[in-house]
Parts: sequence; C-alpha cells; structure tokens
Amino acid sequence: MKTPVYLDNSATTPLDPRVLEAMLPWLTEHFGNAASSTHAYGHTAARAVEAAREDVARLVNADRRDIVWTSGATESNNLAIKGAALAAQARGNHLITVQTEHKAVLDTMQWLEQQGFTVTYLAPQKNGLLDLEAFRAALRPDTTLASVMLVNNEIGVIQDIAAIGAICRERGVLFHVDAAQATGKVAIDLAQLPVDLMSLTAHKTYGPKGIGALYVRRAPQVRIECQMHGGGHERGLRSGTLATHQIVGMGTAFRIAGELMATEVPQLRELRDRFWNAIRDVPGVLLNGDLEQRIANNLNISLDIPNCDSLVTTLTDIAVSSTSACSTGGVSHVLQALGSDAATAGNSIRITVGRFNTAEEIDWAAAYLRQKIDDCRAGRLRAA
Ligand SMILES: *Cc1c(COP(=O)(O)O)cnc(C)c1O
Repeated sequence: MKTPVYLDNSATTPLDPRVLEAMLPWLTEHFGNAASSTHAYGHTAARAVEAAREDVARLVNADRRDIVWTSGATESNNLAIKGAALAAQARGNHLITVQTEHKAVLDTMQWLEQQGFTVTYLAPQKNGLLDLEAFRAALRPDTTLASVMLVNNEIGVIQDIAAIGAICRERGVLFHVDAAQATGKVAIDLAQLPVDLMSLTAHKTYGPKGIGALYVRRAPQVRIECQMHGGGHERGLRSGTLATHQIVGMGTAFRIAGELMATEVPQLRELRDRFWNAIRDVPGVLLNGDLEQRIANNLNISLDIPNCDSLVTTLTDIAVSSTSACSTGGVSHVLQALGSDAATAGNSIRITVGRFNTAEEIDWAAAYLRQKIDDCRAGRLRAA
C-alpha cells in the first residue's frame, strides 16, 4: 500500500486511465484547431469537441448547445456571476449568495461590490443547509442573481437547489449553481431543475485539470456578458482556441461518471461509512455538516481534544485536507459560518474517498488517525 494514502478526492481526483487513453491522440496526430473550418484537421477536432459537449450535457441532462467550455469551475463561476450581474445591471444591482460558497464565488462577489453592486451573504443553518425562508426574505425588487452551490466542497452537504430555484423563478431572479463537487455523485437533471447557469469542472470527476464548462440556459435565454473577448468562440461567450485534448478528457470523464454513478455512489458511501464507524466513538471527534443530506464520499470532522492544537499537522501518512485553529491558513470560512464552537476552536479534517481507494486503505488510515489521537492525548506526539 502506498503512503500517504490519498483521501483528498474533493481537492482533485487522479485521472481515470481510460480518460488519459482517450486524450492522447488529441495531443499528437489530431492536433487540428477546432475553429479551422477549411480542412479535415479542423473538422476532426470540431467533431471531437461536439461529441464531448454531448457527453458533458448528458450527465446533467442538458442540451448540448447550452454547454460553454471554460478552463474550470473558477472561470465558470466568474463568467456566470460577473456575466449575469453585468448583463442585468439595468434591472438592479443586488445579488445573493451564501457564506459557505467556494472562494471563486465569494471573491467574484466581492469584486462586484467594488464595482457598485450590493451583495447579501446569507449564513447557513448549523447543519450547513440554507434556510429557504431566510433566502426568500433576502430577495429584493432589485435582486437580479442568486448563486448557491449544489454540493459544499468542505462539508459535502447538498443544498435543495430545486426549492431555491423555484423561489428564484417566482421572483424573476436568475439562479447560478456551482456544481463542481456534484458531478458523478448527485443526479442532476437540468431539464427539470429551475437553474439558469451551472458551473462544472473535470478534475473533481477523474478528468484533467484546466478544463470545465458553464451551462447557460438558452430557453428561456439567459443573457450574460462575455468576460474573455477575442474571436467569438462558444456562442460569443468565451473566446480562445479550444483545448481539444482537455475537452475530450472532460467528455470521457463525464461519460464514465454517468455510466458508473449507480454502482459507484454506494461504494463510496460504504468506504466513507467504514472510516466514520472506525473513529466515531473516539471522544472529541465531532462530525461537521448534515450527515443525511450529504454526498457519499465526504467526511468532515473536528478534533476537540485538549492540548492537541497541532495534531492535524502530524498526520503525514494520510493525504487529507485540514484546517487548524493555529495554522497560518486559520479556521475554514465554512466551519466558521456553521457557528459551531468545536469546529472553530479545534482542528478539523476533511476526508474524501474516491474511485481508486480500497477498503484496506480506509482501515489503515482510520487506525492511523486513531493512533495519532491516542498518542496526542497521552502527550506522546511531536509536531512534524
Ligand atoms: C474545485 C472547486 C472550484 C474550482 O474549480 P477549478 O476547476 O479548480 O477552478 C469551484 N467550486 C467548487 C465548489 C469547487 O470544489
């Protein structure tokens, strides 16, 4: 078994070998520019791009023509939020989001505040979920856009996008959803969901880094201002030569995710629960976020153990995401927004299992964590 054991699949996932295989020819013999309409090199690339667009659209049950390629979810969030806010400026300049969103949403909102927009940052409930009545109450006549993520990247909770979207529709407010963490783990049906814009990325779903997409609803049509000018690619919404190999990688990754989802999600849940059951009885181990309305592969725990402030920095044989009250990064803005004392006072770690983890790895990692906690409690731990 290889250490550190990789349990940080919400930060990024390894490339599925089948994805790599599919990508390689597009870096070598099929090097054409998909925008070259005068020869076969271009036509071949364009066909691959459109086939991948179909694969991505199918995973979220959207029309192929609603998918715009970007460099990842960060860019998709920027394009969706700046694009929609600027295009709707004549109708109002109030935007709504949640304190537990990804920084790619929060920093974009902050930039818009500097441009004269007003933003409401709603606090979630203690379980990480948005209170629908609080959301409804925050809507104003000049609200043009709301942005709420589908799955939280730190605590894995799943927001009720259908209900939030329905409120937006009622009030004529555009609705953007960051779904970077959801693909392959939560069924997404954009033919039914009242969602106007949705951010997607490949590398959290066993695809390559540096490629993503923005779903932009065409019916009824959502107007967004282009943020990357130059040539009018992608319905005029995002210029730049398409990265055929990356796009083929994302299409393949999403196609595989769709095929595997029904069997993979229960497997992830089994591994996650295996880890949780191995440590849940340890005094001072507390779960953050709702356990039920949560994706299958996420565990986020706080370690509320006296005199063990640097415990998480010693976990060198498991690759997990951690925040420590005394680390330079400080306490996570998500846990802070939940308002839980243990979460903000102590150390917390996010354990996210993935397609390539084994039961053996889970058992080893859980035992390792237990041992470290015991050592720390007994005063036998030295910081790494
Ligand atoms: C990873 C992530 C992003 C950023 O995606 P990139 O493709 O890495 O730019 C945005 N939102 C959420 C929720 C994420 O988990």
